[in-house]
Amino acid sequence: MKKIPIAIPPLGQEEAQAAYDTILSGWVTQGPKVKEFEKNFADYVGSKYAVAVSSCTTALHLALIVAGIKEGDEVICPSMSFIATANSIMYMNAVPVFAEVNEEYNLDIEDVESKITSKTRAVILVHQIGMPADIDSFKKLCNEKNLILIEDAACAIGSAYNHKKIGSHSDLVCFSFHPRKVITTGDGGMISTSNKQYYDRLKLLRQHGMSVNDRLRHESEKVIFEEYSEVGFNYRMTDIQAAIGVLQLKKLNLIVSNRREIAQTYNERLSIIENVRLPIEREGKFSNYQSYSIFLKQDCKISRDELMQRLLDDGIASRRGIMNIHEEMAYSGMRKYHLPKSEELSDRSILIPLFYPMDQNMIEYVIDRLIRHLT
Ligand SMILES: *Cc1c(COP(=O)(O)O)cnc(C)c1O
Repeated sequence: MKKIPIAIPPLGQEEAQAAYDTILSGWVTQGPKVKEFEKNFADYVGSKYAVAVSSCTTALHLALIVAGIKEGDEVICPSMSFIATANSIMYMNAVPVFAEVNEEYNLDIEDVESKITSKTRAVILVHQIGMPADIDSFKKLCNEKNLILIEDAACAIGSAYNHKKIGSHSDLVCFSFHPRKVITTGDGGMISTSNKQYYDRLKLLRQHGMSVNDRLRHESEKVIFEEYSEVGFNYRMTDIQAAIGVLQLKKLNLIVSNRREIAQTYNERLSIIENVRLPIEREGKFSNYQSYSIFLKQDCKISRDELMQRLLDDGIASRRGIMNIHEEMAYSGMRKYHLPKSEELSDRSILIPLFYPMDQNMIEYVIDRLIRHLT
């Protein structure tokens, strides 16, 4: 059998055609396709507005700016996340304060609460590998403590919390369309919000602080000049990307339900293995299973690295668990952290192949090899 990869982006002929058509349309950077993608995206998640940007990293950066974060402010986030979560805080010359995660790989609210100081201004809540965090509890905490809640939903497009899509629960929700996520535009990001002030400022900041965008000038019957009221960025998404995004969004429900079926098969069939913990999806949570993570408990038969090597020998790709930002060299100059739960989760977890569409034989093979190596 051919090697089974960890993920395959769900792109096909249609997306290639859309990119082709857009290139020949004469409009390639942010224009009508971006507008259409934003409208469809906001409708999908159930927010009033959506602002397309170049990545989730740039989405988080802009979210922190409109949240009013200033130099030296503290922003609480998990350490167990992709490094971009904390990097966005560093761009602000603010201070990431790392809190622990729970067995669902999401922020531990008690640890977050214990880390709030007079300098804390915001919390970045990550829906790790697509599993929704307890948004209501965090909204309540942030309200009480006068903090701004930002959701890092890089992995969570199509996931839901209390029967409402991620993107509709708070006013700064950041998504990614990197190929490793559930839908992709090559690279790309989106911020959903229902706050008009945030919306207006996000639109300015993503394109140089320019008051009138290219599309409006192009469509205008009258001569108009743009103004620049503040220093902005070039964080635009292109129309080529957005044309792909429009199609990807149409397939999203199908992709998510297929991913959930595969996860369900894994859950059922791998439950006979002792000494591992499979993903936990609690009441009110609906994951898109952007990744499927298996935690190897202390008395597991083989080590994590040995398991990964044996799978690779079988032709099955796997990845180490989610990284811990505080353990990376880029953050070694910071306050010293000891986060035993995050460290254990990261060291003892593996991600296994799960993508759309995944052949039934492949699924069976992955299950068979995991059972063989772990029992
Ligand atoms: C992928 C990811 C990001 C970064 O997304 P980009 O679109 O690649 O910038 C940020 N946060 C988390 C949790 C991620 O998984």
